[in-house]
Amino acid sequence: MPLKLFYSPSYVAAAYAFDTTRKSAEIVKSLEVRPIAGVEIVEPRSLTVNELVRVHDPRYVEAVRTGLPRELASSSGFPWDPGVWEAVTASNGGAVAAALEALNTGAAAGSLSSGLHHAHRESGGGFCTFNGLVLAAFAARDAGAERVLILDFDAHYGDGTADLIDDEDEFFMVDVSSKWPMPGADYLDRCRRALDEIADSEGPYDLVIYNAGMDPHEDCRLGGIRGVDRNDLESRERLVFGHCSERNWPVAFVLAGGYANELLTMDRLVDLHRLTISAALDSPKAKK
Ligand SMILES: [Zn+2]
Repeated sequence: MPLKLFYSPSYVAAAYAFDTTRKSAEIVKSLEVRPIAGVEIVEPRSLTVNELVRVHDPRYVEAVRTGLPRELASSSGFPWDPGVWEAVTASNGGAVAAALEALNTGAAAGSLSSGLHHAHRESGGGFCTFNGLVLAAFAARDAGAERVLILDFDAHYGDGTADLIDDEDEFFMVDVSSKWPMPGADYLDRCRRALDEIADSEGPYDLVIYNAGMDPHEDCRLGGIRGVDRNDLESRERLVFGHCSERNWPVAFVLAGGYANELLTMDRLVDLHRLTISAALDSPKAKK
């Protein structure tokens, strides 16, 4: 069974060029040049206003759609233009589609979405416009999921997610990030412990939504942890998909953070994000 990877050229429709608004296209380009066997790229349906207002304040949704008030429309941290609406409705639609695909098939699925976990109910933040992780959890619950884990290994704390699921008894969050500073040597252990202790004590889950940030890499200036290298992140991805697969918890993953610079080139960053796709494919297929 192929791994469904949701992507549409609309993901990169925002005028502002930045990793969050551009790297999904770079990953797709790399998959054309160096395919990963078993990956099927699928175009998701964009979310509608009615779907977004279940998680976000209608005034904020309207601001992102129309650009007014401009300050609210740009609260993610990058300037608004009409392409922002096209981009975020598509990429959040991809997160939802991946979650439903994983829930329905029991196998892993993914979306090349990023810029999700700092989005709050009434505004964006930290390059995030809408919270696709929470939108995906809502959609999964509508489709019958009773317990959903949001696993966040981005380098930054998922503050928007934490706020949005605070009152939701069916949604759980595990976060390993710079909110709890750690030496690089402890990073993998911290991820392992988070999975073992928290994820197991509250499990089982009908779905895991995985925010697979690559910004803990030591060469990333926004979040990098000294001593965390490609091998560690590859091990982390195998750990996540192995852990969930053993327990028959289907995983829907998204890209999250990871920011190129002259040292961490876009090619290297793309290579890091490909580790998530490979680990998802290599995990024993979880069948319900
Ligand atoms: Zn981050």
